[in-house]
Amino acid sequence: MANCSICGRPAIYVNPVNNKAYCRNHFIEYFEKKVKKTIRKYRMLGKNEHIIVGVSGGKDSIALLHVLHKLSRKMPGWRVTAVLVNEGIKGYREKTVENLVKYAAKNEVGYHIVSFKEYIGASLDEIVEKGRARGLPYLPCSYCGVFRRYVLNKAARRLGGTVIATAHNLDDVIQTFLMNIVSNSVDKIYKLTPVISDEEGGFIKRIKPFYTVLEKESALYALLNGLIEPEYVQCPYAEYNIRFTIRKMINELEDKHPGVKYGLLNSLISLTQEKQTRDTVNKKQVCKICGEPSSHPVCRACLYRYELGLTTS
Ligand code: SF4
Ligand code: ZN
Repeated sequence: MANCSICGRPAIYVNPVNNKAYCRNHFIEYFEKKVKKTIRKYRMLGKNEHIIVGVSGGKDSIALLHVLHKLSRKMPGWRVTAVLVNEGIKGYREKTVENLVKYAAKNEVGYHIVSFKEYIGASLDEIVEKGRARGLPYLPCSYCGVFRRYVLNKAARRLGGTVIATAHNLDDVIQTFLMNIVSNSVDKIYKLTPVISDEEGGFIKRIKPFYTVLEKESALYALLNGLIEPEYVQCPYAEYNIRFTIRKMINELEDKHPGVKYGLLNSLISLTQEKQTRDTVNKKQVCKICGEPSSHPVCRACLYRYELGLTTS
């Protein structure tokens, strides 16, 4: 491999787009600068923030926790708390929970573990079973995504968080972008922004500090900082998710044509910015059942709960 473009030491990473090479130290510096720049550019954080980091315990979310924790040491007004939502998927979540607990103890980061069981009244396994018994048309990942966002927002509010940070990286974002295109869910594309502010509606502001970071960059950052991936166990419901096929397809494209990923991200940014200028007035409403923010009279979480027989109203 080439030598570091900055100091000449052996490089461990080459940016495929501009061919700049980085040694270990300069890669860490490059990565942290990139994240800081994204935070600044999209005005993600102010001077005083209680940042709730949504973590799964996997290496990406621990890497985000690590960067924000590191940055917070230079920002006296920032406090960082990790929140892990345990969906209740048998044999899957346990390892990642352990990983977070270990990291938090070693680095003195505060954390909370909350569960679907506690907030929704049933684990994801129970929800999937109920849904099947009732013949509902939803896939496990649909319940999982909707309820996870719901639980994270509620938990963050209870903890007095001012902002929720999630580890969605560039790869995640463009995969979701294409997933929405192939399923003709164009409306959802407009939610794929680096910041979602909706304070009036009761949603805590949500930010994606890794929005411009490639998956392989965050993986390398995690590796260099000794943030390990817990023993890999695939979620038993993953096979129903088209994401994994799309991920493979984009990675193949990127291998043949470096820069495709940034191209997709930039297209997404142009689309969402156009839409924002088109309708600056955003209608906000709250769910008439639970009072949580919702774009429909009854929010998705309450609709699912009703259909699953977890509530009567
Ligand atoms: Fe949830 Fe689907 Fe991810 Fe499993 S694969 S954790 S069900 S979103
Ligand atoms: Zn260097």
